[in-house]
Amino acid sequence: MPDHPQEALLRLLDLQEQDTAIQRLETRRAALPEAAELADTRRRLEELDSDADIAEKQRQELSRAQSKLEGEIELIEIKTKKDSERVFSGAVSNPKELSALQSGIEQQNQQRSVLEDQLLEVMEQVESNDSHIDRLTTQKVEATERATELEEKVSLLMGDIDAELESHGLEREKIVPDIPSDLLAMYDKLREQKGGVGAAPLRAGTCEGCHTKIPQRELEHMKAQKGLQRCENCRRILVVLDI
Ligand SMILES: [Zn+2]
Repeated sequence: MPDHPQEALLRLLDLQEQDTAIQRLETRRAALPEAAELADTRRRLEELDSDADIAEKQRQELSRAQSKLEGEIELIEIKTKKDSERVFSGAVSNPKELSALQSGIEQQNQQRSVLEDQLLEVMEQVESNDSHIDRLTTQKVEATERATELEEKVSLLMGDIDAELESHGLEREKIVPDIPSDLLAMYDKLREQKGGVGAAPLRAGTCEGCHTKIPQRELEHMKAQKGLQRCENCRRILVVLDI
């Protein structure tokens, strides 16, 4: 590799600075807590919708059961009223017929009592189902409001991040032409292998890529050699700032 002037190496540090900022922003963008909460809230809303559908169907079934029982009770009441009127009108004089009518009325009263108990049970279920629907409605309103809030927040935060990314991207484009292509290729490869950091300054005898102190003898060797240096420990490109 040809030797590179200090100027190009310093520009490489500028490029690293932009790439580090871009990487930090991209990481932040991918892990916005507000976006994660928004996804959770949307999932919760879907669950609430599905629960509300089930509760609504249940309400219709209960409503049908209630109407059916009320209809049956009404029919029995009409029959009982008619039979009672016959008994008390004196129109039936045959004792057998009278007795049959009276025991019929008794049976009807028993039937009605059973149906009324069933109706009461259904009405209790209707009440409990209605409160369940009310709770679901409240939860849906709350979750929808939270989702709207989060959508606005996420959109603002993403907008800020994207604006910063764009500005760093533009800055990066300005720096790239100042760096020889072989140096740039080496930097890109190292950056890929080493967590986004391909070039690091050597400051106060320490590689700032891996924070390792370079032995004095090696430092002197680097100083004598000048140009492109690599950290013996992390293999990153070292830009000697001062020794
Ligand atoms: Zn190092």
